[in-house]
Amino acid sequence: RLAEALADVTGPGATADGHHVALLANIGGVHDAELAGAEDLEGVGLFRTEFVFLSADQEPTVEEQTEIYRQVFAPFGDRRVVVRTLDAGADKPLAFADLGAEDNPALGRRGLRLSQARPEILATQLEALAAAAEATGADVRVMAPMVATAAEARWFAEQVRANGLPSSGVMIEVPGAALRAAQVLASVDFGSLGTNDLAQYTMAADRMEGELSELLDPWQPAVLDVIAAAATGAREAGKPLGVCGESAGDPFLALVLVGLGVTSLSMATGKVRAVRLALRSHTLEQCEVLAKEALAAESPEDARQAVRAAAAPEV
Ligand code: PEP
Ligand code: MG
Repeated sequence: RLAEALADVTGPGATADGHHVALLANIGGVHDAELAGAEDLEGVGLFRTEFVFLSADQEPTVEEQTEIYRQVFAPFGDRRVVVRTLDAGADKPLAFADLGAEDNPALGRRGLRLSQARPEILATQLEALAAAAEATGADVRVMAPMVATAAEARWFAEQVRANGLPSSGVMIEVPGAALRAAQVLASVDFGSLGTNDLAQYTMAADRMEGELSELLDPWQPAVLDVIAAAATGAREAGKPLGVCGESAGDPFLALVLVGLGVTSLSMATGKVRAVRLALRSHTLEQCEVLAKEALAAESPEDARQAVRAAAAPEV
């Protein structure tokens, strides 16, 4: 029955009452792109570009990068591809731009902070992305990782604009950026919640530390509070706010996220169908009620249980 139900629901993501929620794929390379491109989904919500850089001894040239990005974009035709610029740091060091060891790499010069320390690496990547977008006709939108302040978002938007790319966004994965989302999003076109890092920084729990998985649970009510604050700020700024952390692929949590005001969900390709079915089985108002249930809970287990009990049996 479940297999049948999943096969029956196709097309763009939407709630039962027709509120559109784009369903997108997280990809990390050419192979992922080919698999996701063949699926019934609206494009890519997170293309992690680290693979282009982390194994290279020298910085890949504009031509080399353009060729890789062209191969990644091609399977999507004119669909959207949200590209995250390089998210390197002391835990994912670059052979050609080593800023040195750090005691706390997760709190160090990673993501956009590294791009600001080595702006020429970002400039080369943006030039290649613009060339590949032009060559393929894909709807390419570029976003920065680990943005903490409105000034950083503004700086990134200027770099993107200078390369002729039409759309810039920022990941919201630092609690400080989530709490100030209206100001952080003012100078960009969209935001995307990275709930993996957002949980790590909200709960002060290293995401590489398996023993801390309960604290890292995206159902933690405090994490949901921070997401709710970001959604309120995005609404105030009039900017779309997606989710591209692993949490978007949990059908019950997807309902909560939509109820909190999230406008797109990006996940592992294999999770899209179940999330689409969950959304189609609930109105936006029902999602809002589920979000209230989750926010009222004291623990992740209670939040999960309350939402499961109140959700439609199709999920
Ligand atoms: C996140 O932090 O939630 C995210 C999507 O990025 P990554 O997992 O690559 O850090
Ligand atoms: Mg992240």
